[in-house]
Amino acid sequence: MLEQLRMLVELQVLDKTLYKLEQDHQNIPVKLKQLDDKEAQLRAALQEAQEELEQVAARRKELEKDVEAVKARQRRAENRLMGAKTQREYRAANAEIDEAKDSIKGKEEVLLELMERQESLEIEVTKHGEVLEEFLAASEAERKEMTARVKRVARELKRLGKQRGGLLKGVDAGLLSKYDFIRQRRQGVALAPVKAGTCLMCHMDIPPQQFNELQRMDRVMACPSCQRLLYWADADGFETPE
Ligand SMILES: [Zn+2]
Repeated sequence: MLEQLRMLVELQVLDKTLYKLEQDHQNIPVKLKQLDDKEAQLRAALQEAQEELEQVAARRKELEKDVEAVKARQRRAENRLMGAKTQREYRAANAEIDEAKDSIKGKEEVLLELMERQESLEIEVTKHGEVLEEFLAASEAERKEMTARVKRVARELKRLGKQRGGLLKGVDAGLLSKYDFIRQRRQGVALAPVKAGTCLMCHMDIPPQQFNELQRMDRVMACPSCQRLLYWADADGFETPE
């Protein structure tokens, strides 16, 4: 049994590394996706401001054309006013001039609002563009690093997986399945060293009777609190891994 425990301790060292690598392997794609989402969000904000800016600019152009048309109408009415031969012609031309002036005044008020909106949208578009550029520049290195790391981690997982296969050869099948069962439920750590009667994984005390029995290391016992498989850390040849 001592030899079996020694093999499990060795296996556990490897499994801790494997567990960290597996976590990394799962988390990197999630982080990459978060960067993509953030980028999409920044691009959408920029596009929204750009589209509104285009709409405002188009409306302004149209309205400016309208104003020009009304001004031309006003000029024609003014010419008619100068050449008016009857009271009726005079009044009609005058009324048209007044109407044109009102219309221009109203349109110019709207134009002013549009110009102000256009200016603030131009600032907004510039700002969104800068934020996007900054994000892309800052995240580029991170993306490259993570993309390279996920490949490295995959290679390392493969290599250690093979190494694990080698370590498993001498381990008792029943013991191994118990070990794996606990490992999957305890963040990759199925084995717990016991020092001075305390489980070093969950820091609970082992009942003295059980601790006495444990020191004989002739059978595998489970921690009453965390259910991990226990070994006596002070036994010969069992140094406590960190
Ligand atoms: Zn424990």
